Formats: sequence, structure tokens, C-alpha cells
Amino acid sequence: MEQQLGESVVAAPFDKNVVFQQLSIGDLDGEHRQLLVRAISSILSTELAETTYAQIIDGLPIADVAYDSHNPPYGAHPVDEAHGELCPGMIDKARGFCREFNRTLTFNSQTRLIEMIAVAVQQIAVILFELDTSLHKDDGIVDWAPPKSDEWYWGRHPSGPLPTLFHHSWYQDYDQYPRGVADIVGYWAEDRILGGVVLFDRRDPEVKPDADPNAVYFHWDWEEVTYRIYRLLPKQRQALLDFLLADDPPFLMSLPILGDQDNRDRVDPEDPIQQTGIYRDLWERKELPLDGQHDKRVARKGNEDILPMTTRTKPWSKLEPSQPAAVIGNSTRILTVKDADGL
Ligand SMILES: [Zn+2]
Repeated sequence: MEQQLGESVVAAPFDKNVVFQQLSIGDLDGEHRQLLVRAISSILSTELAETTYAQIIDGLPIADVAYDSHNPPYGAHPVDEAHGELCPGMIDKARGFCREFNRTLTFNSQTRLIEMIAVAVQQIAVILFELDTSLHKDDGIVDWAPPKSDEWYWGRHPSGPLPTLFHHSWYQDYDQYPRGVADIVGYWAEDRILGGVVLFDRRDPEVKPDADPNAVYFHWDWEEVTYRIYRLLPKQRQALLDFLLADDPPFLMSLPILGDQDNRDRVDPEDPIQQTGIYRDLWERKELPLDGQHDKRVARKGNEDILPMTTRTKPWSKLEPSQPAAVIGNSTRILTVKDADGL
């Protein structure tokens, strides 16, 4: 996707004061309400969703999940030793909440099904985080930082650690998020459950003939995969829709969605959303500072974007010892990246 530097393809800059019309599920007409509730229920019925939300209720990610990121906990962070598994009772709490979800969600009125689902998955996490149930408020793990003598760390994090360990590397601008820190947690949960923060092509087709309002993009933040945004292939998009629309979700539907070497249409997240037009919320990512510190393209250099063949088991397969290795709920957790050219 080529854009002229400095060119804006969105209609208006983000205005924090804009108030969006919100609808609750109960405001939708019968057919749409039924469809939406069923789709959300399908997602919430996966053990992946339950374990992801259970971590938020718990107050800390499981160590393996925390480290499965482009920006894992720094140095000798105590979460590594302290939180190898969920605290007792958390799965049951998450299950209970998921049964009640449809009383609490709100949506913008003009969104489509996949976007509504992404918003729902994000917003459930926001609500859970705001319930403030954490069992780890006083153990110092979230607030941990290396000593001031660690100049590398403090040079890059002058304000210290983020207020949560549930974070996606590219979605941390909580000072401009409608729900503040809780929205960071929401984007993280969306990434863990769906396979990425779900983005869309917001460019105006009247201005940009190659714009595709039906395109769906994923922005994931896992170890050993590209940090770049990629567009879902038509078959991936259809598989997601089939899962959401099915009366009985197909047993082998794999959440999260996994990109691979065939997902060739990619977008650099370093480019401002006003230039790429690929985003969901105008407030989701600030333009990067010009200091180059966060621009990975400098180090990437052409073919160095290619990652070696990697096969691994996603870490949350360890969450439920009763499950067969690498399988949890409806989802197979083996990620294979072959000669992935950036993935
Ligand atoms: Zn815990």
C-alpha cells in the first residue's frame, strides 16, 4: 500500500471530544440482536476467551503469556517467577461473567459484524479490568521496575512501567483512550483471543480507488511473528464470518486467526494512521515520535525481515493441564511459520 508522505486519507483528525452515539444490544432489532449475541457467545464459549478474561480478573497475566510479546517484561521481572499459572477460582469467575455479558455492552451504531465482535471482545476486557478484582494489587509485580542505575531502561521509560502488564506493544496511548488504561487491557485481550487487534480500511473509495471497505486487517503482538499489520485473505475472513454466523460453531475453527507467508498485503505500523488509513479507532495509536527509537524499519532492512522456520506451541496450551498438549477448546495451538518473509 503506497501513500505519499504526509498525505492524510482520513476525513478528520481525531477529536477526543467527539461523543459517539452508542447503542446497547437491546436497541438492535430482533434479527440483528440474535445474530450478534450468538456470534459473541461463540467466541466466549472458547476456553481461549475464558482463560484470557480470567487473567484480567486475576490481575496478572500468566508468565508465559506475558512473555509472548514483542515487548515482554523487562529484565528480571518478578512476573516470570510469581505467576506461572492462574490463581484459583479465576476461570469460574470468568465463565460467570461471560454468561452475563449481553447486559453490559454498547456499540457504535454503524459498525459491521466483525467490527462489532472486535469491539465486544475488547470491551468485555475493559469492563472486567474496571471491576478492579485484581488479587495482585499489593505484591509489587505490576509496579516493578529495574533500579535507577539501569540507564537503558530509564532512558526509554522515563515515567516507569505501564500501569498494567496486559498490553499490546502498539496500543498503549491510554492518555487519549476513552476508557484510559482499561482500553490498553482491552486491545491486549482482543489480540490474544482473535489473533490481533482488528483494523479496517478507512480510506474513502472516492478518493482512493484501491480502498476496500470490506478488508479486514490484523495487528498482532506475539513472539516470533512479524510486528506488521497484515490483511486477512478472503478465505480467512470468510472462515471468521462462518464461525460467527454458525448456529453451532465448527469444532475445528481456530481462534486465534494466524497469519502466514501467504498474507502478503502488509502495512508498517510505524506509518501514521492518517497516512495508511488502516485503523479502527482514531485514538488507538499516536504518531510515533521522530526520535527513531520505535521505528523497526531501520533494523529490518530488506530481506532481514525474513524469519526462519518456526514451529511452536502457543503458551496458553499450558493453562489447562487436563487438555491434550497443544489443544484447548476448539482451537489448535500450533503456530507454524515457514520462511515467513516478515511473519
Ligand atoms: Zn494471580
